[in-house]
Amino acid sequence: MKNWMMLQMGLGNFQHRGTIFSFALKMSFSAIILSAVIMLIVLPPLSFFDLLPLSLAHSLSLGIVFSWLFGGAACGLLSLIAGFALHHLTISRAEFEKLSRTDMLSGLLNRRAFTEALATVEADASLVIFDVDRFKAINDRFGHACGDAVIIAISAILATAFNDSSVVARLGGEEFGVIVTGFPLAARLERVEQVKTQIACQPITADGCTVPITISAGIADLEPGRNKEAVYASADKALYLAKALGRNRVVHESEGLHHAWHSRLVENGLAVQGDDDTGYDGAQRAYGI
Ligand code: GH3
Ligand code: MG
Ligand code: MG
Repeated sequence: MKNWMMLQMGLGNFQHRGTIFSFALKMSFSAIILSAVIMLIVLPPLSFFDLLPLSLAHSLSLGIVFSWLFGGAACGLLSLIAGFALHHLTISRAEFEKLSRTDMLSGLLNRRAFTEALATVEADASLVIFDVDRFKAINDRFGHACGDAVIIAISAILATAFNDSSVVARLGGEEFGVIVTGFPLAARLERVEQVKTQIACQPITADGCTVPITISAGIADLEPGRNKEAVYASADKALYLAKALGRNRVVHESEGLHHAWHSRLVENGLAVQGDDDTGYDGAQRAYGI
């Protein structure tokens, strides 16, 4: 019984009220048919040994009437009660499942749901990690409540900026993950650039304050057979290079060790002249990653 109930909830069979009534009707008819079969098996032998107070025909017709009136009605009622209980459990379970995948502040998917979504994407998509620039300073200057309002506003911008098949999530703090879908890669990169520019061009009015915001992004591509952790690490690396290079910019993984940018890192003392590999190490030192 317990297993059957868990199965029904898992399948979402009692999600709609209509299912409860058809379930009760089915159970009620089953009870009537079962009691009729039992009577057909039990009453003839009893009649044969003359143990019935009435004739077999009368006993059968009375039995059928009672099984309709009491057996069917009682079973239908009990099934309705059980059906409604299952309905409420199914709804609560679905709500709980949704809550466990939702970020409470922004209403976007949370990190867990994002990781699950990432595992299902194989190609023609890029993983973007957005991070609001100097967010600590925003909290310090405008207050934590305003910081929260900024996170909500940025979430709304990201949620509407990408197409329906893209996945947008808040990974934590002021960091967001987006699986940008669509072909070709250049179009995906352009979209991310547009979002970055849109955010930089329009100060966010939230919680009674107007806050100028910029955002940086690191991008890595999802390709068939490519390990998801490697994609995530590469996007993260690109994001930290975007920060090291001055913020308010988008860096694709392929541009990570771009020569001109390496020169910028050298200028900022974050990389060593002539050693292209020290760019990310410099960013690591600067950001403690
Ligand atoms: P960077 O440009 O290098 O990303 O600098 P940053 O200041 O944005 O980064 P840092 O990691 O130093 O600071 C992030 C801050 O975000 C610190 C933390 O207090 C704040 N923060 C994290 N979660 C929340 C939140 O839910 N609400 C608010 N208001 N602040 C948060
Ligand atoms: Mg930040
Ligand atoms: Mg951050």
